[in-house]
Amino acid sequence: DSSIPRAVSEASAGQYIFQRLLGAGSFSKVKLAVDRRTGDAVAVKMMDIDEVRQSVRLQETLSREIEILQRIRHPNIVRFREATLMKDTICIVMDYVPGQELFQYVARKKRLGEQETAKILREVLVAIKHLHQNNIVHRDLKLENILIDDRVGRVKVTLVDFGLARIVRNYPLMTRCGSEEYAAPEVIVGEPYDGRLSDAWSFGVIMYACLIGSLPFNPESGKPRALAEKIVSVNYRAPDERISSTAAYIVKSLLVREPNRRLTIGELLRHPFFAT
Ligand code: ADP
Ligand code: MG
Repeated sequence: DSSIPRAVSEASAGQYIFQRLLGAGSFSKVKLAVDRRTGDAVAVKMMDIDEVRQSVRLQETLSREIEILQRIRHPNIVRFREATLMKDTICIVMDYVPGQELFQYVARKKRLGEQETAKILREVLVAIKHLHQNNIVHRDLKLENILIDDRVGRVKVTLVDFGLARIVRNYPLMTRCGSEEYAAPEVIVGEPYDGRLSDAWSFGVIMYACLIGSLPFNPESGKPRALAEKIVSVNYRAPDERISSTAAYIVKSLLVREPNRRLTIGELLRHPFFAT
């Protein structure tokens, strides 16, 4: 079947025991399961085979997601186990990451302090740097795709969701994708873009959200173009006096219209704010 990525193998029947739903997107569901052979907890991202068969675009993104996950091994990036076909479902099997999305974590606490923000986001930066060093751009960085496990004594941060990630070899990208709230101006207007610099913008949106407790750019009901216009004109409520001038400066230096003028991921990692 040529519409199924080659990396997808047949699962031996009953290998995974499915438990609860972990998350759901537009084309996929993610379920918690147990690997019967090892007892390991796994997360299985599932896509309906007929939907994949019908959409060349879905086939492309699926094979990209699998190819990229196979390539990377990093403590702050979800670990790929295998891609298999189970009945009518294509499954990407990953290690289960305990904890919650950074989205819920921030929502529960209303906003995070600067030290905590720095500690969590430093791990996100390390993960992004590793991707960029391997010529991979994520393109869907947001609070929902960062998992955090804060059981006593440690904080572990894991980046997930490579559904929109791309391997880049020296050419600019064009596809408009990702959540609009986190998308950089150049992605929104459809200019050719350097995915590393638009990942840095999305990181700026994430940092703002951690510190302030709301997104810098929000849609308005009844005005479909309003969000895009605010982003392209970098029109957001400045972080208030509750955050330090250093933190405010970093956010301001990421949410910059001109991609080349933004702080880079490497510069952020060297900045004292993110020093361990
Ligand atoms: P989508 O492309 O539909 O956004 P994701 O890969 O982001 O799919 O997965 C959806 C949600 O499922 C995530 O936001 C997260 O809450 C949960 N999830 C994904 N992978 C894992 C994992 N390995 N361990 C635990 N939860 C996960
Ligand atoms: Mg996601």
